[in-house]
Parts: sequence; C-alpha cells; structure tokens
Amino acid sequence: MSFLNADLHCHSVVSDGTLTPEALAARAASNGVELWALTDHDEIGGQHRAMAAARANGMRYLTGTEISVTFAGHTVHIVGLGFDPDDEALRQGLLATRGGRGARAQEMSEGLAKVGIRGAYEGALRYVGNPELISRTHFARFLVETGVCRDTPEVFRKYLTEGKPGFVPHRWATLGDAVRWITQAGGIAVIAHPARYNFSANEEYALFTEFKAHGGQGVEVITGSHTSAEAVRYADTALEFGLAASRGSDFHSPDESHTDLGQLPLLPGTLTPVWELLAHRIQ
Ligand code: AMP
Ligand code: MN
Ligand code: MN
Ligand code: MN
Repeated sequence: MSFLNADLHCHSVVSDGTLTPEALAARAASNGVELWALTDHDEIGGQHRAMAAARANGMRYLTGTEISVTFAGHTVHIVGLGFDPDDEALRQGLLATRGGRGARAQEMSEGLAKVGIRGAYEGALRYVGNPELISRTHFARFLVETGVCRDTPEVFRKYLTEGKPGFVPHRWATLGDAVRWITQAGGIAVIAHPARYNFSANEEYALFTEFKAHGGQGVEVITGSHTSAEAVRYADTALEFGLAASRGSDFHSPDESHTDLGQLPLLPGTLTPVWELLAHRIQ
C-alpha cells in the first residue's frame, strides 16, 4: 500500500493556509490524491468540512492536526492522524495550545515597531481566517504585501526567526501531552518534517527516543520540506526506531508552496505506511 497517493499534511484558512477546506479538497482530488488529511496548526475546527469535502471529491479521509510543541528549547511539530475529532481532552489541549497566540502576536508587533515597521499586528490580522490562530505566516504575508520583503522566506530570515526583531520565544505544548492527546483520542502521533529542526545528533536521538516512550508511532519521511537525501535518511531513522512512515506536502498556498498537494515521491516500499496502522480510522 506504500504506492498510495496519500497527502496527510496541509493547511487551510482555519490556520495559516490561504485556501478553504473545500478548495483544498478539490485541488487534492484533481492532483490525484486518494487519501487526504487536513492538518491545521493547533486546531481541528475544519475537520468536519474537510471530511465532507473529501467525500464529495471521491477521496478517503483521515482526521488531522499539527500540534506545536516545545522540546529541548526548540519548536517541534507533531502531526496527529485518525483521532476522534470530538474527543474532549484533545479539544481542550488544542484550545490551551492556541491560547498564547494573541499575546505573542502583540509582542511580535512591538518588536517589529522598534525597527520601524508599524501596525504589523493589525496588518497580520487582515490575513487571519481564524482569530484564535494568528501565526508568523500571517505577519509574513503582511510584510510581503506592503513591500518590506520580496517573499515569505525572506521575511522569516530577516524578521521572524530567533534573534530577529519580530521573534518572540514561546512555550508550546509538551511532547508528552501532544502525543497523549492524539493517541488517547484513537489517533497516531507523527513527528513532522524532522529535517527542519536543526537538532544536534544527540538532541534528535532524544526527540525520537522520548517520542517513542510517550507512545508516538510515526515520522514524516516524504514531505515537501525534505530533500531526497533527507527522505533517505529519515527512512533509515523510521526503521531504526520502529516507526511507521507518513507522506504529506505541507501545502499552504498556491502562491507560496513549492510542493503541491499529492505531488511528491511515493513512500519507499520498505516502510510501514501510517495509513496501514490507521485502516480502521479511514473515513
Ligand atoms: P507559528 O506557528 O506562528 O510559529 O508559525 C509557524 C509557521 O510559519 C510554519 O508552520 C510555516 O507555515 C511558517 N514558516 C516557518 N518557518 C518558515 C520559513 N523559513 N519560511 C516560510 N515559512 C515559514
Ligand atoms: Mn504553517
Ligand atoms: Mn510544521
Ligand atoms: Mn505544516
């Protein structure tokens, strides 16, 4: 089943994507996606719409989210798949994780004002589809639209990453909580885009070991943010740690994302796909 065109990572206007769940579903289906999951950051408010849209477009569906976690002082993303979207502990956990975003955004805006960029909070809000989910991506869109930077990667490089004027350190969920919210709701926890964290070998080993100990079962091997060498490397890591493998574009927007929905290499046949473990949760 590793040859399935599954895309189990993308974002809608319910977090920091620019398309509605319905538009994403139509785009995924026309790109040949057979099994889809919408994984908005810290939010599952789009799940019922996505599930209905998947059905309307002839795709199978797994529930999804991408939880922001603080691990060893770094932000790590944990994708949850196949959980019960009405699970109360998961809903409360995500609500708490979203909770600090408003105050963080105000502080980011103050940092940007100090280098002469005024009104960034109000500006970013214009791009927000969900008032509980203001993210750095919305600031990036504002700074591109107003001509401060050419594209969103430039905004992150100059303004929104550690040590830069709009960066505000933040404490997200713990790794253990995120994994438990997902698994106790019947789903599977997956380490998102592991090559993106710039961990030392020791830190990465600690992440995978603790993730397993908490009950984590999967890792993204094929993602829009991995090179082919990184995919090979994390295929080995999946085997080493006995983790199932996931595949997802991390698509955010037709104007910003290099990897479109469903348009990425298939999972290597040597790995166990996460959707094999989730066969009973596929809608
Ligand atoms: P936040 O959850 O507010 O910290 O925002 C994180 C989001 O910002 C990620 O999910 C990406 O969508 C986006 N992002 C992070 N780093 C970059 C980057 N270097 N270039 C473009 N987008 C980025
Ligand atoms: Mn994002
Ligand atoms: Mn992510
Ligand atoms: Mn993502």
